[in-house]
Amino acid sequence: MDLAPRPAAGSPLRATWAEVDLDRLRHNVRVLRARLAPPAALMAVVKADAYGHGAVAVARAALEAGAAWLGVALLEEGIALRRAGIACPVLVLGWTPPERAADVVAADLDQAVTAPGDAAVLAAAGRAAGRRARIHAKLDTGMGRLGWPVPDTAACDRAALDLARIAALPGAELAGVFTHFAGADDADLEGARLQVARFRGVLDRLAERGVRPRFRHAANTAALLRLPDAHFDLCRPGIGLYGYVPSPHVPDPGLLPVLSWRTRVAFVKDLRAGDAVSYNGTYVAQGPERVATLPVGYADGLRRGLSGLGAALVGQGRAPIRGRVCMDQIVVSVEGCGPVAPGDPAVLIGEQGGHRQWAQDMGDLLGTISYEVLCGISPRVPRVYAGDGAPDAARAGRP
Ligand SMILES: *Cc1c(COP(=O)(O)O)cnc(C)c1O
Repeated sequence: MDLAPRPAAGSPLRATWAEVDLDRLRHNVRVLRARLAPPAALMAVVKADAYGHGAVAVARAALEAGAAWLGVALLEEGIALRRAGIACPVLVLGWTPPERAADVVAADLDQAVTAPGDAAVLAAAGRAAGRRARIHAKLDTGMGRLGWPVPDTAACDRAALDLARIAALPGAELAGVFTHFAGADDADLEGARLQVARFRGVLDRLAERGVRPRFRHAANTAALLRLPDAHFDLCRPGIGLYGYVPSPHVPDPGLLPVLSWRTRVAFVKDLRAGDAVSYNGTYVAQGPERVATLPVGYADGLRRGLSGLGAALVGQGRAPIRGRVCMDQIVVSVEGCGPVAPGDPAVLIGEQGGHRQWAQDMGDLLGTISYEVLCGISPRVPRVYAGDGAPDAARAGRP
């Protein structure tokens, strides 16, 4: 057997990496944009390092493909985009501690606000900086998480009054009013429709007070694809950018998964009947079986819950995980994969040898969603960019 490692195309120094195809990302942005009900524009949600894909590279590609805004969860995520030279409007969707208000203004970020006190602090920071802090007031129309709860008309009136006061604060601009869907990916859209009605109720009351925020927004990927009534001025897709629909109830408009998780075979050996594999010997070979060791484990985000459950793609076949997933390694059965040697490419998420498995398939095995699988790929896994104009395109084996 030739034990000299054969370099795999696209392999960076580490033997396990995530390849992010920016052409596919741009394709997804265009597919989603084509579904927007005018006058809605697109805010690419790149929180959590762009769902594990790398926020700066994804942000640039999304803007090239026509996104107008970026959305992040944290102030730090917004500041990181600014440090990378990204100048478009960026909304911080999550709560920022009031002590950081000056940083929000200094970074020229739009900030979600969930209570009058936070708005006042941002307005003061705006005045101190000689400009206006841009505020997006968040209404809780049914998510039950953040924002002005608006379950009935009295609550809608109170919210509208608060928002009108914020709009009048010197040093602040009520740039937006928004809400978030709890179940736009549910089989039944009744709850989402009720949320839209509540949202419109507050907007109508605001208009009666003469307040018309420029950006009204509500739709995540599911609502973008299923509820044109909820598009308003901006849609905020996240998961769709990365090539997945949020649930089986959301029709796929032809999105392409952007991230492939790749590794290489570290070791190959033949088990005999009775040989045990990995911690605690939970797998014992029933007969002769060829196995390969892959240098990827739960410290990379390959969840230990996949022990004895998931598979990698190796050679021409699917290679089921045998025994426990370790911190840095797994063992897979390569029976039926054709000839396999150390250094060969293997795939955890992606396509190879006529087989494919995507983040959603891994999520199904784990009882979770594609989002969690993608965000869970740890920072130890280098992100390598492929596609036109990608800094790593040459390294990823593309012209
Ligand atoms: C994460 C998030 C989104 C994007 O949701 P997807 O389901 O990934 O499209 C939109 N809006 C808010 C407020 C979010 O937190």
